[in-house]
Amino acid sequence: MDDLPPLRAVLAEHGLDPKKALGQNFLLDLNLTGRIARQASLATIETVVEIGPGPGGLTRALLAHGAQRVVAVEKDPRCLPALHAIAARYPGRLEVVEGDALKVDFAAIAAGPFAVVANLPYNVGTQILLDLVAVPEWPPRWSELVLMFQKEVAQRIVAGPGDNHYGRLGVLCGWRTHAEILFDVSREAFTPPPKVTSAIVRLTPREEPLPASLHAMEKVTAAAFGQRRKMLRQSLKAIGGEALLARAEIDPQRRAETLSVAEFAALANALE
Ligand code: SAM
Repeated sequence: MDDLPPLRAVLAEHGLDPKKALGQNFLLDLNLTGRIARQASLATIETVVEIGPGPGGLTRALLAHGAQRVVAVEKDPRCLPALHAIAARYPGRLEVVEGDALKVDFAAIAAGPFAVVANLPYNVGTQILLDLVAVPEWPPRWSELVLMFQKEVAQRIVAGPGDNHYGRLGVLCGWRTHAEILFDVSREAFTPPPKVTSAIVRLTPREEPLPASLHAMEKVTAAAFGQRRKMLRQSLKAIGGEALLARAEIDPQRRAETLSVAEFAALANALE
């Protein structure tokens, strides 16, 4: 793929023993990182933001497979020398940002349209996804997200009504994006192996999500799924109960997990 040292040698050279607190489960197989990188539309994307590049396996794959510009945000300063070595191999194409992805404004560091491709640290993955999907302006500045999650989280992202995994994440992602699981990644692919199977998810923005305010969508989904086993007339009591449901033309005896995204949008509009 490139003439840089194998990733195991990179870990040894820079003393990168994985830290659990930083969600460090590294991918050392460049065939697998190549497969992940190829899921993004690298030829047409101006900037790829990578969150948590670690020793740089996915970063190298993105660059080798044609990413024009990668901005990689890494919290662990121990990884920076390895990342700077990759930047030297691909002059002008890799910018390394030391920082916390939860505090970084991706749109500002990308300075144009961007995609996000990442093997996310599990402890912050869902929050990072929500930060990207629950933005005030829609369509967003990003054109595509290709992200690794624990499989259970991936199932929640793509879930629809009637699915056990359906909840706030599924409604929000289903409302604003097209989300699909591309493939599973087994535990053994990581160093060290995490406890559960992972999966790669791709999300692309819907150009015209059903009209509803983000704030109201968050409010109705929080209330409805906060007590997901209860009938909606009970779970939505604090925000309007039966009267709200009547305005949205939804049977008050139904439960949150049976409602489509369109019905949540109707509830959100009835709330406003
Ligand atoms: N991309 C590498 C790979 O695939 O081998 C590493 C993935 S590892 C699952 C997650 C990476 O995210 C680690 O390098 C970790 O240091 C970094 N990280 C953890 N929390 C972070 C945060 N809040 N902001 C940026 N990077 C973070």
